[in-house]
Amino acid sequence: MDVTAVLEVDQLVKAYESGGNGFRRKGAPVQAVSGVSFEVGRGETFGIVGESGCGKSTLARSIVQLHPPDTGSVRLAGEEISGRARGRRLAVRRKIQMVFQDPYASLDPRMSINAILAEPLQIHGLHRGGQDARVRELLDLVGLNPAHANRYPHEFSGGQRQRIGIARALAVEPQVIVLDEPVSALDVSVQAGVVNTLADLQRDLGLTYVFIAHDLSVVRHVSDRVAVMYLGRFVETGTVAQLFKAPRHPYTHALLSAVPVADPVVERRRRRIVLSGAVPSPADPPSGCRFRTRCWKATELCAQVAPPLEGADGHAVACHFPESGREQSV
Ligand code: ADP
Ligand code: MG
Repeated sequence: MDVTAVLEVDQLVKAYESGGNGFRRKGAPVQAVSGVSFEVGRGETFGIVGESGCGKSTLARSIVQLHPPDTGSVRLAGEEISGRARGRRLAVRRKIQMVFQDPYASLDPRMSINAILAEPLQIHGLHRGGQDARVRELLDLVGLNPAHANRYPHEFSGGQRQRIGIARALAVEPQVIVLDEPVSALDVSVQAGVVNTLADLQRDLGLTYVFIAHDLSVVRHVSDRVAVMYLGRFVETGTVAQLFKAPRHPYTHALLSAVPVADPVVERRRRRIVLSGAVPSPADPPSGCRFRTRCWKATELCAQVAPPLEGADGHAVACHFPESGREQSV
C-alpha cells in the first residue's frame, strides 16, 4: 500500500429534487449526501458501511461522475474530475469505474457478453483491431470461460453476471473501482468466490477500491479502512482494527452490537443496543447532529451544533460525547 492518495473526495454534496408536478407543490429536496470527505491510498480498500437509504449509492454515483455532485470536489491522482468539459472528462473517467449492486439490472439483456465488454473499448478507442482478444482476456481475468463470449446475460448465474460486471469495469484499465454492494444481491454461497476474485485482481493489477456494503462482516473482511455513514454524513472513520475493536461513535456501537460474535462466552455477554425510533427523512434531517434523535447520549448541544469529524491517528469521529476509543471486550 502506497501512502499517496489516489482518490480525494472533498466536501461532496448531492441532493435530489423531490416529487412535485403541476398540481402538487414540490417537497423539500432529499439531502442524500451532505458534505462527505475522504482519501484513499493507492492499492487500498476503503469500505463504506451504513443502513439502506443513508446515501451510499448516491455517493458512489457522484464520485464516478455518473450523477455529478452539486458541490465539492473529486480528485483522481491529483486531478479534479468533477465539473470538467465532456471530452476531457471521458479521458479521466476511464481511470475510475463502477461495479453495480444488481448484476441483473446493470447488463443489457439484448447484448452478448462480447458486445457488453467491447462497448467500453469502443467508447474509449482502446484495443482497436484486437477487441475480441481483449474480451477473451477480460473473461479469463474474472474467472469466466473465454469461449462463452457469444452468450447472453440470462445464460449466466448471478455470481457469473457480477463477474461480467467486474470485467466491464476492468476493460478500460481503471486505477480506482467503486463497488456498490457488489455481493449483496448474490447467494451467500457464491459471495466468497467473488470477494476472493476481487482481492486477487486488486493485488495483480494494483487496483484501489471503494467498497460499499451494508453488511459489517463483509466490510471488515475486505477493507483496510472503513467509514460509517448515517443520513448522508460520515460519523466515524478509521482502520478496521480501530473501528471494530474500539468504536467511538454511538451509532457504530449500535451497528456492531447487532452482529453476532462467534465466541459463545462473548456472545452471551454481548450487550445489544437497540436504536429507538426510525431513521429520519433525508428531506428533513435533524438539526445539529443527524443521529441525535436516536442517540441515548444526546443533549441540547447536539441539537444545536453538528459535530465535526475529527480525531487522531487516522481514527476520526463526529460526536460531541464519543467513547474513549479503548479496546472493547466485545
Ligand atoms: P443507499 O445506497 O445507502 O441505500 P441511496 O443513495 O440510494 O442510499 O439513497 C439516499 C437517499 O436518496 C434515500 O432517501 C433515497 O430515497 C433518495 N434517493 C435516491 N435516489 C433518488 C432519486 N433518483 N431521486 C430522489 N431521491 C432519491
Ligand atoms: Mg444503495
